[in-house]
Amino acid sequence: MSTRDRQALLPGATLGVMGGGQLGRMFVHAAQALGYSTAVLDADPHSPAGLVSHHHVQKAYLDAEGLQQLAAVAQAITTEFENVPAEALRTLAQSRPVAPSGDAVAICQDRAAEKAHITASGVPCAPFALIDSEASLARVSDTLLPGILKTARMGYDGKGQVRIQSRAELAEAWAGLGRVPCVLEQRLALHRELSVIVARGVDGQWVHFPVQQNLHREGILAVTEVPAPDVDPALAAQAVAHAGAIAQSMHYVGVLCVEFFVVKAADGRLSLVANEMAPRPHNSGHYTIDACDVSQFELQVRAMAQLPLVAPRLHSPTVMLNLLGDLWWRDGVERTPAWDAVLALPGAHLHLYGKTSARPGRKMGHLTLTGADAASVRAVALQAASLLG
Ligand code: ADP
Ligand code: MG
Repeated sequence: MSTRDRQALLPGATLGVMGGGQLGRMFVHAAQALGYSTAVLDADPHSPAGLVSHHHVQKAYLDAEGLQQLAAVAQAITTEFENVPAEALRTLAQSRPVAPSGDAVAICQDRAAEKAHITASGVPCAPFALIDSEASLARVSDTLLPGILKTARMGYDGKGQVRIQSRAELAEAWAGLGRVPCVLEQRLALHRELSVIVARGVDGQWVHFPVQQNLHREGILAVTEVPAPDVDPALAAQAVAHAGAIAQSMHYVGVLCVEFFVVKAADGRLSLVANEMAPRPHNSGHYTIDACDVSQFELQVRAMAQLPLVAPRLHSPTVMLNLLGDLWWRDGVERTPAWDAVLALPGAHLHLYGKTSARPGRKMGHLTLTGADAASVRAVALQAASLLG
């Protein structure tokens, strides 16, 4: 299909986004750089994306008037948050192109549906069981212990998860989570964690970023390094193929991130297990703003506007450090981190999201380091971490 055949929305049009968090803010920046106007729907008058957007509809996700206002001003709509009710996206889709679709987002909102989709795409998941009744609790196989009990819906950054050792702990943890539907996953010995971000257009063409290595602390992403050091090229190619297969089988349109665990068998062989997916740009792809020629946010814009998706190229090795609210506190006293010292480091790119209250664990910003080679980037990242710590 030639570019002319597409129903492309060219710069000058207005693009809308459901959700006003940092992902929405970086989407707005990318859209505006290309010459689009933007509209954000988020009830919070101080939302990071609302603060920088041309239009800000300050209504709840399911507010009919708010959805109407967004559709009136925006010619195409995306989402920055997977817990936007799928119903809101379906309503918007009656009058505007919406990417990703409410159906795709609905799959990602429910860990059981997500695992069913991943498995149906031919990609392995961690062994798990759905726990939604006393009977399903009693049926759980001992092979899933020790395990991690995760609420099927609304979990993020390790929230809604309990690590359990025994059946007694499992029953207690499920009661503690309010007996809502959960998945119990076998706790795997993780050799490492990787993620792959793909962008897919309405025409089915898809492109991907390089495989990313992620380090989590207390369930929250702390560090991403790209290229992922010492990854077997065959394993990396398989991760990309898995992410592509998952996107294809959903007829996905937009940016999708798939998180993987690398597990090591007794014979030393490494294999991939898909953990979860996000129907939007992902924290592990923030480095793409500074280290790639096209960012994940620009690809989100291009996919929703039906512009060509070009294969992104990493032009620098990179390390991304998440900046959590904890950095704003020392000995119980709030302070401003030493940004001047951090910005004196070569290849340091600071991104702050405009959030005013720095609660511990809250994602306030990120720092991307780029440089000539991976070893020097890693060394500068360590310096940055010690300046901030
Ligand atoms: P969230 O939606 O909060 O990101 P995840 O399912 O990705 O939830 O879990 C967060 C982190 O917890 C993972 O990145 C990984 O470090 C750890 N984790 C999750 N599931 C497992 C598992 N089955 N075995 C071992 N570690 C896990
Ligand atoms: Mg995760």
